[in-house]
Amino acid sequence: MSLFPPIIENIQKAAQLLREGELVAFPTETVYGLGADAFQEEACQKIYAAKGRPSFNPLIVHCLENAQVDALAVLGQDAQKLAETFWPGPLTLVLKKREPSLLPSIVTAGLETVAVRVPLHPTARALLKAFGGPIAAPSANRSGFLSPTLAHHVLEDLHSKVAMILEGPPIEVGLESTIIDLSGDAPILLRAGGLEIEKIEECLGQKILMNQTVSKIKSPGQLLKHYAPHLPLRLNVQDVDSQEGLLAFGSALSGSKVTFNLSETENLEEAAHHLFAFLHLLDERSDITGIAVQSIPEHGLGIAINDRLRRAAEGARDVDLLKRL
Ligand code: AMP
Ligand code: MG
Repeated sequence: MSLFPPIIENIQKAAQLLREGELVAFPTETVYGLGADAFQEEACQKIYAAKGRPSFNPLIVHCLENAQVDALAVLGQDAQKLAETFWPGPLTLVLKKREPSLLPSIVTAGLETVAVRVPLHPTARALLKAFGGPIAAPSANRSGFLSPTLAHHVLEDLHSKVAMILEGPPIEVGLESTIIDLSGDAPILLRAGGLEIEKIEECLGQKILMNQTVSKIKSPGQLLKHYAPHLPLRLNVQDVDSQEGLLAFGSALSGSKVTFNLSETENLEEAAHHLFAFLHLLDERSDITGIAVQSIPEHGLGIAINDRLRRAAEGARDVDLLKRL
């Protein structure tokens, strides 16, 4: 398996593979996606098998245009507003499914809602256009591991399980999409991500409830431990050990074995863009005993960055416990 640059022949080949019920990995502006024809049950089943994803964790359906979303889901007033303002872009909306639905129930894990998004990345858009229908696509990594922001991450993690990996121009955002549930009475944040929550609140003219404050768990995927690196993570460090790798933000602490700086100028967009690639790079090293992370402010994209780092720290702790059993 090799990587395919996004020239027209390869885009058409990828679209054909999707029609034949195969899996194609492709870049979006958030992370690489593992795509299947959203209307083919068997193809979508392959996504769950390839990722080792539990069947209760539904997929995000990617569409080329807002009109394509409208055929799959009911867009209320808030959804229209957000769609017009932020699509194409790193925002996923959970909406009531339009019935009768052509989507097999495996896509939504049997729920009456569907998660939809219109991506911005040119390769994702070219593929959606050539394919001509919605593509179900979660992140292209094995369930529970770091999300891929480079084509070779996908190659290393899933090469034997996909028919084709499309490469593309660099991913801009580098964090998964922000997920807002609009299927109930009030908008709820299900996952912080690549679109700042403050911007969404400004557009809607109201505060958004956090999922944790809602008694019923709404986003099954958020129950899972995610992003487990092999090495232990220490967060919000004030000092660093000579055997540790440092993930710095702003002015870097001295004394680490190796340092990657998410953003020397404390720019959160730049930090989000580098986060997974730097975690991958540090996690591959055999000459460090752990990863120390400097603190990142809890606003804007920092909310999503800190969420991923906390999950990575938890995930790494679990891997370590399993190893000791
Ligand atoms: P991924 O594409 O791997 O980033 O994961 C998709 C995320 O969207 C998971 O956290 C899912 O639980 C969530 N999701 C997808 N569909 C729904 C839905 N209908 N309701 C709530 N959450 C959803
Ligand atoms: Mg994922």
